[in-house]
Amino acid sequence: MQVKCAICDQVEDIEDNSLQAKRLRNRRIHMYLCNPCYDRIGENTKKRLATGRFRLKEEKQHSDDLI
Ligand SMILES: [Zn+2]
Repeated sequence: MQVKCAICDQVEDIEDNSLQAKRLRNRRIHMYLCNPCYDRIGENTKKRLATGRFRLKEEKQHSDDLI
């Protein structure tokens, strides 16, 4: 599946059957982060992102395919 990084908007392909893809589809995690961004941000930010309460910018409605 294609996923878009919540921070830098880079679109990446991840394995459909990967744990991360399953968690995204089940909305247990709300945003995908690419590895460089994930490494860059701190633990607290990761926790906020995981809850979906943290918004870096307005989400666009037309990007439904891309999480
Ligand atoms: Zn990124």
